[in-house]
Amino acid sequence: MLYLCATPIGNLEDMTFRAIRILREVDLIAAEDTRRTRKLLTHFDIHTPMIRFDENCSATVAAKLLERLRAGESIAVVSDAGLPAISDPGADLVRLAVDAGITVCPIPGANAALSALICSGLDTSKFLFAGFPPKSTKNRREFLQGLATVEATLIFYEAPHRLKDFLTELAEVFGERRAVLARELTKVHEEFLRGTLSGLLELIGEPRGEFVIVVEGKEDVEPQEGDWREFYQELLATGLDKKSAMREAAKRFNVSRREIYNTLLREEI
Ligand code: SAM
Repeated sequence: MLYLCATPIGNLEDMTFRAIRILREVDLIAAEDTRRTRKLLTHFDIHTPMIRFDENCSATVAAKLLERLRAGESIAVVSDAGLPAISDPGADLVRLAVDAGITVCPIPGANAALSALICSGLDTSKFLFAGFPPKSTKNRREFLQGLATVEATLIFYEAPHRLKDFLTELAEVFGERRAVLARELTKVHEEFLRGTLSGLLELIGEPRGEFVIVVEGKEDVEPQEGDWREFYQELLATGLDKKSAMREAAKRFNVSRREIYNTLLREEI
């Protein structure tokens, strides 16, 4: 059995009874950072053997872990905080285990993304977890443009020293949308900053601590009457690619993409 075991994201009281029991009972704990996990285990009086399982060594260690799982041992994967496999190591091992017919079992608990979402006050009925944005400016821009038309609430992780730049780019690509910065969740200085993307930029000062960024999805607008050409040009001016701009214009003006495509060809716009 492979357990994916949640650990606290700041407040030790968020460790569950079940997580403690499973971590005591398994044969081995595969931890992202053994030093950090050791502190957690000591706090809860857990003495199970541990192995390091992080991004750098995961392929080789994953093979060893699979071998032990096949031999009938039970293993729990833990990351530094929250749910393993969510912007943390674990997903590849789960894939391999599933392929090998090994049973995978969740031990749920703290998670930064969902904790931020449920307190955001934004729509929780549809959401998209986008994780960390790419580091390179070009890839990040493309990543955001790809999300610009999503109507579900968007959830991002970002490091504090990149937060301001990221918010600036979010405001550039998404325009004036409501957003929430969930800071230091479950910790002493937990706070929620609410506003618009550009308003939040003015609010945050020098960001410190850990942040989740929750952004309102694209507004679901009624189809508009009239000419779609101006709207199409406006979208291109924001940096959106032609294909996405055509799709958006088609949706907004309730015309077919084919019609837009043919008109653009004909009029050489
Ligand atoms: N696996 C974790 C989870 O389930 O939430 C996420 C790990 S990811 C490497 C770390 C990122 O999660 C941080 O950079 C931050 O964006 C977010 N995060 C983790 N703990 C947080 C907290 N207490 N408050 C706000 N954001 C947090």
